[in-house]
Amino acid sequence: MEKSVKKIQMVDLQTQYAKISGEIDEAISSVIRSAAFINGPEVKAFQAELEQYLGVKHVIPCANGTDALQIAMMALGLKPGDEVITANFTYVATAEVIALLGLTPVLVDVHPKTFDIDLAAIEKAITPRTKAIVPVHLFGQCADMEMIMALAAKHKLYVIEDTAQALGSDYIFSDGKTQKAGTIGTVGCTSFFPSKNLGCYGDGGALYTNDDELAKKIRMMANHGQRVQYVHDSIGVNSRLDSIQAAILRVKLKRLDHYAAARQKAAAWYDKALGNQTAISVPARTTNSTHVFHQYTLLLHGIDRAKLREFLSAKGIPAMIYYPLPLHLQKAYLDARYKPGDFPVTEKLCASVLSLPIHTEMDEETLAYISDSVLEFLKA
Ligand SMILES: *Cc1c(COP(=O)(O)O)cnc(C)c1O
Repeated sequence: MEKSVKKIQMVDLQTQYAKISGEIDEAISSVIRSAAFINGPEVKAFQAELEQYLGVKHVIPCANGTDALQIAMMALGLKPGDEVITANFTYVATAEVIALLGLTPVLVDVHPKTFDIDLAAIEKAITPRTKAIVPVHLFGQCADMEMIMALAAKHKLYVIEDTAQALGSDYIFSDGKTQKAGTIGTVGCTSFFPSKNLGCYGDGGALYTNDDELAKKIRMMANHGQRVQYVHDSIGVNSRLDSIQAAILRVKLKRLDHYAAARQKAAAWYDKALGNQTAISVPARTTNSTHVFHQYTLLLHGIDRAKLREFLSAKGIPAMIYYPLPLHLQKAYLDARYKPGDFPVTEKLCASVLSLPIHTEMDEETLAYISDSVLEFLKA
């Protein structure tokens, strides 16, 4: 009874919370009782546990994923005029921090099937001013890190992995070895925004690196450029993960692999139900990454997307467009270097992607209802 009246959501954080509420509530109230709200033991414990989960030497928590990207670029000493290459098909934060720091964002197109940054396009965009590449592991699947790292080594570039959507996914090297997304480049950046795969109950983020010196600089940058108390070697920012969020993240990190498996199970269900339609493509998988399905994104072929969305919405099914407008066509990022048509893949994706609900709490009844509704539209 209760199930059939439950509202379908893109992400169901309420049901997820209901299953772990005892542990979460205790974690929150114990921080309040301790009054160690900032840089308390919970933050240090979470940091150590995430380091262990990722197999990385240093995790540096910060206030959100956007800050993580900004702090990475500051700690690497990038200067105005330096060019930073990133994918055009991404959330705005990636390009925003490049522009905010006075660096030059160099946008490149993405792969038409995986939606991840296109290697040939990166290579073409490299100039003597290029300092860094920011691959975005979009929707939960890793960009081609092995090739990107080889290209970066050849041209002496930093690699800043935007792993805000792919925490927990494994990159698979050609020799079969695996490494967690975000731990391969010079530095990895992630977000704990509530709807992300490891989400807190507010804002949060982190940087990861295996480089001891860089880790020191990152910690300094995130803490007002402070080397020792009241001694400031650089202009930094104030960016902290608070202890309550860290305590919540510790509870959820223990379940992250279980949560990823639930998302993968839902994705497999959708694949089976929708995979043999000519008018839609289900998400393509690469052989060099696992997929943690931050989003389950369909590609529509010759279908009226607005009509499909309306049709689903009338049945109580939300569906979202990530992302409707490429960066080079956003008012804030208009640039004489770029014009409409310059990024044919990104522009086509923005016009034809549609993401279906996917989260950790999907049951088969809901998956069947959503899949059947999509099929019903295709038949009409
Ligand atoms: C969410 C997200 C960010 C920003 O994270 P916040 O914590 O919201 O600042 C950056 N990049 C990508 C790809 C994201 O999805």
